[in-house]
Amino acid sequence: MEKRERVLIIDDSSVQANMLKSILEGDYDITVEHTAEEGLHQVRVGDFSLVLLDVIMPGMDGFELLQRMQEEVVTKRIPVILITSLRDTEYEERGLVLGAVDYITKPYHPPIVRARVKTHVKLYRYRTQVERQSMVDPMTGVPNRRSYDISCLNKWQEAIRFKQPISLCMFDIDRFKIYNDTFGHPAGDKVICAVAQTANSFLRRSTDFFARYGGEEFVAIVMGSNAKAASDQLRKIRQAVEDLHIPHTPEAAQWVTVSIGGVTVVPERGDCYDTYLKVADTMLYDAKRFGRNQVVWSTSKMEELKD
Ligand code: GH3
Ligand code: MG
Ligand code: MG
Repeated sequence: MEKRERVLIIDDSSVQANMLKSILEGDYDITVEHTAEEGLHQVRVGDFSLVLLDVIMPGMDGFELLQRMQEEVVTKRIPVILITSLRDTEYEERGLVLGAVDYITKPYHPPIVRARVKTHVKLYRYRTQVERQSMVDPMTGVPNRRSYDISCLNKWQEAIRFKQPISLCMFDIDRFKIYNDTFGHPAGDKVICAVAQTANSFLRRSTDFFARYGGEEFVAIVMGSNAKAASDQLRKIRQAVEDLHIPHTPEAAQWVTVSIGGVTVVPERGDCYDTYLKVADTMLYDAKRFGRNQVVWSTSKMEELKD
C-alpha cells in the first residue's frame, strides 16, 4: 500500500480539531496537537506534508508558531494552512505575509477543506521530488555538485561547533582520458558509474558524504574520524575500485584505478573550508605525481597552513 502523507492539525479546541480530522482522515495520516509548543516539536521531527494551524490559541498563537517555523530550515519548507473563525482580512493578510500558503475558515465546508488540502499536499510532494532530483547526479545516482556545495558548509559548521575532526577527500580516476579515447565515451560513463557506486557504498554512515564533483572527479567528507581512521577508510575504497577489475588500456594500467588526496582537520571558528579543500586537492596532485592508484593524506602541512 502506498504510504499516506502525514498532516498535522494544531488547534487548542478538541472539537474543532476532531471535526477537521474526520474530514481528512480517509485520505491522510492525521496527527493532532493542542498547543503551539507541541505542534512546533511535531513539525520539527514528524515528516509532515502539511500543517493545519489554528490562529487563535492560548500561549503561543498560530502567527507566532508560523513565524518560528519560517526561521528553521527543516520546518520552513512545510506548507501551513491557517484556520480561523474570523473572516477578518487583516488576519488573513498577516498569515499570508508570514508565509502561510492558504487559509480556511470555520465553519468548515468539507469539500473545500479536502480540495485545498489535496492541492497543497500535491504541490509539496512535487516540490520535494524536484528538490531531491536536483541534488542527485542523474548518470551515477550519487549526490551531485549542488548537493555537495550545500552539504560541505553544513558539515564544516558542524565540525566547528562540536570540535570534531572532519576529513575532506578528492578522488580522480587515473588516466581516464586515454580510457575514453580507446573505448569511447559510453564505456567511460559506465566506469564513472561503477566507481561512484563502489565509493558510495563505503560511505554510507549518515555522517559521511560522497558526491560526484564533476567529470571523473569525486569528493568525500568523513566526520568524526581521526586522520588514521579516515585515510584507512579511503584506502579501502581505493582497493575496492582496483578490485572491480575493470580492464584499462595497456598503455595506462592493468585495471581502472583512482587516486585520492585527503586531509583531516579539527576546524576552529574562522578557519576557511576552501583552504583545506585545496590541501586535499594538492594531496591528490601528489598521489598522481607519485604514480597514481594511491591515497595521499596531509599531515604536517596543516601546521604550515595555520600560520
Ligand atoms: P590523470 O590520471 O592525471 O587524472 O589522467 P586523466 O587522463 O584522467 O586526466 P584528466 O583528468 O585531464 O582527464 C579527465 C578525462 O575524463 C577527460 C575526459 O575524457 C574524461 N571525462 C570527464 N568527464 C567525463 C564524463 O562524464 N564521461 C566520460 N565518459 N568521460 C569523462
Ligand atoms: Mg580529472
Ligand atoms: Mg583523471
